[in-house]
Parts: sequence; C-alpha cells; structure tokens
Amino acid sequence: MNGMPKIPGPVNEPVLSYAPGAPERVELKRTLKELSSRQLEIPLVIGGNDVHTGRTIDVVMPHCHRHVLAKAHQAGPTEVQAAIAAAQAAWREWSASGFERRAAVFLKAADLLATRYRPIVNGATMLGQSKTAHQAEIDAACELIDFFRFNVHFAERIYAEQPLSVSGVWNSLDYRPLEGFVYAITPFNFTSIGGNLPTAPAIMGNTVVWKPAATAVLSNYFIMRLLAEAGLPPGVINFVPGPSVQVSERLLADRAFAGIHFTGSTEVFQALWKQSAANLTSYAAYPRLVGETGGKDFILAHPSADPDVLATGMVRGAFEYQGQKCSAASRAYVPDALWPEVRDRMLEMLAEVKVGDPADFRNFMGAVIDRKAFDKIKGYIDAAKQAPGVKVLFGGGADDTDGYFIEPTVLEAQDPAYRTMCDEIFGPVLSVHVYPAARWAETLRLVDETSPYALTGAIFAQDRRAVEEAKDALRYAAGNFYVNDKPTGAVVGQQPFGGARASGTNDKAGSLLNLIRWVSPRAVKENFVPPRSFSYPFMAEA
Ligand code: NAD
Repeated sequence: MNGMPKIPGPVNEPVLSYAPGAPERVELKRTLKELSSRQLEIPLVIGGNDVHTGRTIDVVMPHCHRHVLAKAHQAGPTEVQAAIAAAQAAWREWSASGFERRAAVFLKAADLLATRYRPIVNGATMLGQSKTAHQAEIDAACELIDFFRFNVHFAERIYAEQPLSVSGVWNSLDYRPLEGFVYAITPFNFTSIGGNLPTAPAIMGNTVVWKPAATAVLSNYFIMRLLAEAGLPPGVINFVPGPSVQVSERLLADRAFAGIHFTGSTEVFQALWKQSAANLTSYAAYPRLVGETGGKDFILAHPSADPDVLATGMVRGAFEYQGQKCSAASRAYVPDALWPEVRDRMLEMLAEVKVGDPADFRNFMGAVIDRKAFDKIKGYIDAAKQAPGVKVLFGGGADDTDGYFIEPTVLEAQDPAYRTMCDEIFGPVLSVHVYPAARWAETLRLVDETSPYALTGAIFAQDRRAVEEAKDALRYAAGNFYVNDKPTGAVVGQQPFGGARASGTNDKAGSLLNLIRWVSPRAVKENFVPPRSFSYPFMAEA
C-alpha cells in the first residue's frame, strides 16, 4: 500500500465502576458463575497449536483452594524444544513484516479486551488470582489495554527517530528485531504484566517463548486466545506453562536465546542472569536481560503531612490486592507528633475492611496467592508477635481452612532495622516506625539505606521544602516516587514503571525505554554521489 497510516493516538482506558446497577457488574457476575461452574483444560500453545501433554497441575481459587478451576498441561523438554523451533520458524516472516501489520494485531487485541474479553479476563483474574472486581479491572482490563495501545504508539515514535542526513547522503536507522527468540517469564500478581512481557518484544518484531506463572495460568491463557483472535500469527508467541527451573534451563541453553523479559522476585532474576552469563559464549549474540523484581516500598510522612490523606494512602497502598503488588507500601515512617491521630484514623478504616471471596463485591481484600505465600507471610507475623519492641496494632490473624486468608496486619516496630522493616514480605503486612519529629534528616537517610530495593516510595508533606528535601535525599531510593499519593497504581503512559538497585534493570514497562531493549538498530548510509578517486585535496602539490 502507498501511504503512511497514522496510528490512532492512545488514551488510557476508562476504569469501569462495577457499582450496583452498572451493566458491567451484571456481565461480570454472570461470567464469574460460568467460570466457576466448569473445569477448563488449559493446553500449551506452540506454533498456534494446542498441545496436551497429559501432565497437568490443578489451578485453584486461592480463596477456596478445594475448588479446581482448571487443569493446566505442563511442558517437558520436548515441548520446550518445539516452542523454540516454532518461534524460530515464525521469526522469518514476523521479523520482516511491516509495522502496520504488527500494530493492527495489538490494536485489535486492545479493542477485543475492552469489549468481549473484558469480563472473561477480569473474571479469570478474580477467581484464579483472588482480585476484587476493581483490582481486576485496573489490571487485567485497563492496564493491559493501555500496554497494547501505548506500546504501539511508542514503537511508532522509536521508528520515527532517525539520524541526520546531509547533502548527497541519506542516513537511516533500521530498528531490527533481535536475532533469535525472547524468553518472557511472568509473575502471578498482574495479568497485565503476563500480557505485556511477551507482547512488548513481539510488537517490535520479535518472536517469543512465554512461561506464565502457574498461579496465573487461567487468565494468561485467555490472553493467549485473545491474541490469536486478534490475528497474531502462529508461533510469534508460544505459551509453555511448566516447571520453571527445567523450562528455563532448556531455553537458556539454546544458541538462539536473545533475551529475557522477566518480572518476579529478585533471587529468580539473579539466578537467570547467572545462568545466561554461564552460557554466554554459546549464544549467537549478547542477550538482552530485562527484569523488574522485588521491592520494599516506603511511605515517609513529614510532620506537615495531612493525617487523613496519609492514613488513606497507608491503607490503600499497603492492603489493596493483599499487599501483593510489587509497589505495595510495606514500611512507613511517621513522626511521633502525628502518629496518634494517623494511627487512630488508620485503625478506624481497617476496622471496616472486609476480607473474603472476591465474588462477594463487599470485600476489599481476597486471599493471598498460595500455600507457600501464606506460610511465609504467617511466619513473619508469628515471629513479630514474639519479638520484643514490636506491637501488633491490627490484624495478625491467618486462616487457611478454606482459602489462604491473612488479615490486614499493622506492626509497630521500635527498631527501624527489624526484619519486617527490611525484607520483602509480599503480603498484607505494613510495618510502621515512629520517629522523633526532630530527626527528619536522619530519617531520610534511614529510608534510603534500610533496604537493598528501590522500586516505589511516597512522601506525604504539605511543607514544600520538605518535599524537595525528600526528593533529593531519596533520588535513588525509588524508580517511582510519589508526592502525597500512595506508592501503587502507576498508569501506563503517565508513570512509566520500574525500579533500580535490587528492584530491577529499570527498563520502565509500558514505555519507549522498554521497547528500545527489543531492537538492534542497523545504521544505513546511502551515498548518492560517491567519490570517484581515492586521493584527497590536501595531497595535491602546492
Ligand atoms: P517469582 O519470582 O516466584 O516468579 C516469577 C516467575 O518466575 C514465574 O513465572 C515463576 O514460575 C518463575 N520462576 C520461579 N522460580 C524460577 C526459577 N528458579 N527459574 C526460572 N523461573 C522461575 O515471583 P512471583 O511470586 O510470581 O511474583 C512476586 C514477585 O514479583 C515479588 O518479588 C514482586 O516484587 C515482583 N514483582 C515485581 C514487579 C516490578 O515491576 N518490579 C512487578 C510485579 C511483581
């Protein structure tokens, strides 16, 4: 075709309310019933074909663990090898295809998710990952729709970034996809990340092998189906749930391994990095390693903070999705002068928080993801109950009879180095350290130095100078920094997300900076008037 089609400008997908009487509420409730009433069989998808290996794991509801939602087939070495072959085969055409063709697939995927697939992917996220309707909506629907639309827009901007040409010469950059396949490894806690990690490289013309988290496989499988319906050619993304260590070993041993797009825990990413470093000489090229990992996200209050705003930020920031957001506030520093009021306000709010089955829309929190998470979080809480200098101000209860439920828990720790102030717990536990208001400067240092992570953080203050001091002192303490707002809820296109230090490579998901990692540019110079003689003017006799 002749013409340069304009990509539709992206706007953030509006968040639907699911309030009583809203049509989306009726539709979502119907879908929840339907998904709960049958047991799905989840195949691998390799080269566009469903693959049933017969080796399955149960996919259960975290809030009702006897309820099996699906049986998910697991990849073994043969299927991993087949997935690599399929990605390699699809690469030839996909890597050479025009941008409009690729863009159309993901723009259509966004529209399918905004409409017909919305209740399905939201419903699967609520049941399989125990999110409330609102938490599912902002993740599985809105954020993933935004990822698709904004990434297409960012890709267009990258391609438009071209070098200077001078008289007689035409210079250009060809943003080639990587040679080989990208390995996307995704976490349980955001369906949108599940969808984004394989598709961001694919938008740039790469082909991908995608290993979803076992506990998010239901919603992730629906995304795979959505992408096929949107016209993604077979083999561009290959879906291989399976035992993570074995699957990764195979993929990282392949010569064509070109990169990792990972989100998950710090230890796992470090292990993958070491493994790829050990195999480095056998690869065709240096792999791109992109990983967003753990956090120990903070809220710091200045004595000038508004107590109501602060208490609300603490409750929402720490407990939405049971504290299982990488950005969740898990340590807070509040000055003594402010603390009694903030504490009472926060405890009042928490007394109203209901925990239970997300299909009951009155609940603000569901269950934590699985037994391993439940045991780990409960271990921290039980130890805190015994620890000198630590008070359990709220919650502390845990019950796994039906589901993996943990009460929202607030600990007050005298020692700012107590383990719950430093370790990533990844559950509904907020540790608060009350500092003497006069020790503001020392507290800034404490916040900066307490944890190896640097993902998100928030400062609450009305005093402008305090805001500036915190911004400066904590410049490297968070990749996403909030002023008078909770440290969660980054929006694609508005707050590009990611952190540094032990929190990741900070390649900012859903931004131009991330997409640039999935291309290997070739500079092309065409000389319209090439020289015809080897000699230069300075060589002439005077
Ligand atoms: P996880 O590290 O347990 O799992 C992430 C993925 O890695 C899953 O697909 C899992 O199957 C796979 N995996 C696990 N062990 C592996 C191994 N040894 N080799 C290869 N793959 C392996 O993390 P999770 O529990 O799914 O997610 C929670 C973690 O993710 C938290 O640490 C959280 O902070 C982090 N997270 C970070 C961000 C961010 O943007 N920085 C976003 C979401 C989650």
